[in-house]
Amino acid sequence: MPRRLRADLHIHTVLSPCADLEMSPVHVVSQARSLGLDLIAVTDHNSAENVRAVIEAGSREGLIVLPGMEVNTREEVHILCLFDRPSDAEELQELVFSRLPPGENDANYFGYQVICDSFDEIVGFNPKLLIQAADISLGELVAKVKALGGMAIAAHIDRPAFGLLGQLGFVPQGLELSALEVSKMGSIPAMRKAQPHLAPYPLISSSDAHFLEDIGSNPLDLLVEEADIEGIEQALWGLWNSNHERTFPSRSRYR
Ligand SMILES: [Zn+2]
Ligand SMILES: [Zn+2]
Repeated sequence: MPRRLRADLHIHTVLSPCADLEMSPVHVVSQARSLGLDLIAVTDHNSAENVRAVIEAGSREGLIVLPGMEVNTREEVHILCLFDRPSDAEELQELVFSRLPPGENDANYFGYQVICDSFDEIVGFNPKLLIQAADISLGELVAKVKALGGMAIAAHIDRPAFGLLGQLGFVPQGLELSALEVSKMGSIPAMRKAQPHLAPYPLISSSDAHFLEDIGSNPLDLLVEEADIEGIEQALWGLWNSNHERTFPSRSRYR
C-alpha cells in the first residue's frame, strides 16, 4: 500500500558552519516530529559526519532520516546527495574530503563545525574548511552518487550564488539529476513559466534549514511505495507526470 510522507529533504545540523548551534540531532528530530514531518534528509556542507547521530535520534522518535550531504562542486554549485545507507554517504564523504583544498576552519569567523552523538553530546569538531568547493566536477559527483545508489538534486537552483542556474545558467545535458530544488525565495509555478527548458525535471521545495524554526517550512508531500531513495525518486517523477500528463522514461535503480 502506498503511504503518504511529509518530507523535508534539505536540513543542516551544527556540523555546517553556517547553521545555528541549536541544530543538534535531538533538537532537529524533535522539531521535525512536532511539525508532523515523516522524513527528513541531513545535508551538511561537504560532510556526513552527523548523519548516523540524526538517524539514531530519529529512530527513537519514529522519524525516517536519510543520510546525505550538500556538496559544493568545482563549479561552485551545491548538489544534495541523498542515500539509503550511512556507509554510502560516508564513501562519498571520503572522496569529497580528499578533494577539499587545504585550509582550516576559523570557527570564530565561519562558525563551529560540531560532530555530535545521537544524544547531543559533542564528540568532536571537524577542522576542515567545509564551506569550500571540492575539486570534483558536477559530472563526476552525480555519477558517483548514482554508482552508490543515491539520488542527486541540484539545490536552490535559482539562487545567484551556489545555484545551478545562477552559476551556469542551464542544466548540463546528460546530468542524471533526480530533481531540481527551487529556493524559498522562488516559486515552482513561476520557475516553470520562466524556465521552460526545465520541463524534463521534477521541481521540489525544501527548507534548507539552518535554524530550528525553518525546518519544514517548505514541505514536500510524497506518495511512496517505500520510504527509500527508489521510492522517493519514483514519487517525485510520478508527481511530475500526473501533474503535467507527460511521459518520461521509467526510472529504475541505478545500482
Ligand atoms: Zn546550498
Ligand atoms: Zn543547504
